[in-house]
Amino acid sequence: MIKNGEGDREAPMRYLMKFGGTSVADGRSIGQVVELGGACRRSGDEVAVVVSAMRGVTDGLIACAGEMATTEHPDATPFLASVRERQARALAEVAPDQMDQALGEIDARLASLANILQAVHTLRELTPRSRDYIISFGERFSAVVVAAAFRQQGFRSEPLEGGAAGILTNDCHGEAMALPESGPRICERVVPLLADQVPVIMGFMGCTRDGSVTTLGRSGSDYSAAVLAAGIDADECWIWTDVDGVMTSDPRLISDARVIPAVSYLEAMELSYFGAKVLHPRSIEPAMAKGITIRVKNTFNPDYPGTILIADGVPSRRVVKALSFIDRVALVNCNGAQMIGRPGVANAIFSALAEREVNVMMISQGSSEANISLIIDEGHLEAATEALIPLVTCGLFRELSTERDVAAVAVVGSGMAGAPGTGGRIFTALGRQGINVMMISQGSSEANISFVVRGDDGPRAVRALHDEFRLSERCDDE
Ligand code: ADP
Ligand code: ASP
Ligand code: MG
Repeated sequence: MIKNGEGDREAPMRYLMKFGGTSVADGRSIGQVVELGGACRRSGDEVAVVVSAMRGVTDGLIACAGEMATTEHPDATPFLASVRERQARALAEVAPDQMDQALGEIDARLASLANILQAVHTLRELTPRSRDYIISFGERFSAVVVAAAFRQQGFRSEPLEGGAAGILTNDCHGEAMALPESGPRICERVVPLLADQVPVIMGFMGCTRDGSVTTLGRSGSDYSAAVLAAGIDADECWIWTDVDGVMTSDPRLISDARVIPAVSYLEAMELSYFGAKVLHPRSIEPAMAKGITIRVKNTFNPDYPGTILIADGVPSRRVVKALSFIDRVALVNCNGAQMIGRPGVANAIFSALAEREVNVMMISQGSSEANISLIIDEGHLEAATEALIPLVTCGLFRELSTERDVAAVAVVGSGMAGAPGTGGRIFTALGRQGINVMMISQGSSEANISFVVRGDDGPRAVRALHDEFRLSERCDDE
């Protein structure tokens, strides 16, 4: 609750709180979720909660669906039993009085899941649509448990599917995008609940106009959170996770990575796009469009202030703020003097890739125009090759070469714009380590310089730059 200044009348704040897979992994963590959301609600503020699946459940659903479609005698029973056991254990811990109702809901959902898995096996066919329906079950289970835990503590609370909460998406199953109509639908459906409930919305999922369930891409609950925060016109969107905030690098890779107190939306977008898993890349824009403050905080260390995402960031003397890294990408080179001065070549390359649904992550074109290099997900390499070979055959360019097992590293910081010499420092530091750079790209925002190295060199490159820019040391204006 904040004072609104004039006459010190207290105005309630409206929060959207998203809890990730680790934050709802078991009874102890869910107890913490209720503690955090409940404290806010008790102080008179409005809270909508978004949850991910319990950690590991979505991976299990993906594996199980794949087995049902491809193996002769699959048995989903042990997996389903382990999921039930996990939810039941959490319920017993945090919602003992709600056990009958909640476990009844879980069992009904498990029965639907078992039916669809059986249908996948009978048909030996896993369509993108049925896959999405199946993999959305993780959030269906966790939302039941979390809502029951809120009820146990005396709050009114019900689980709500992403679609029912108003998230309307296109039909790009597996990577669906929210449509603009979602905003008014969310407002109409969720805002009235906030007066006397803590709605628990299933992250990661939405639905199409014809009512089929879609998922928003792996780690997509962050995106759900931002779309919902924009829809309810939240004052703040809090992403509760298992680290203290957005850090100078992935702490699993760099043990002395440090939390960054404030980053701009742009910096966060660049970092997440290049693999900083702490936020989904699409989770910034919906909040940014409405000027909603995003905070990233640790469910297990809630007193720590975390990271705040704001429009322009805070001016910092630090030129480079953070580094991110994606492995398992592939490099595609299109070479040939035929391309020089010929309009439409880039268009032909990108159209051919788009037709095969290959997403291009980075682009670089030599100034001679005789080369266009692209970075794509390694899993799309076959489709990309099939898409581009016809362009070689018809003489658009001379040669197509590809390389697997490369890594893309992004060096991020808005201070790089107008700070001459940063590129020099980056590539000198890499040179000192004997790391060969295969491709370089700088976005026009100048908040990001990204480059590609061999897969093995990726972690070494991040380490070298973390040291070069002294990112583990606190800067006195932070
Ligand atoms: P959640 O389940 O809460 O959504 P995720 O596993 O998706 O959590 O994201 C949190 C993880 O992101 C952290 O545990 C950390 O290992 C990883 N990560 C990668 N890059 C960063 C970064 N720059 N800052 C913080 N965490 C990062
Ligand atoms: N449960 C989904 C996943 O594992 C979505 C999320 O966690 O954000 O990808
Ligand atoms: Mg996540």
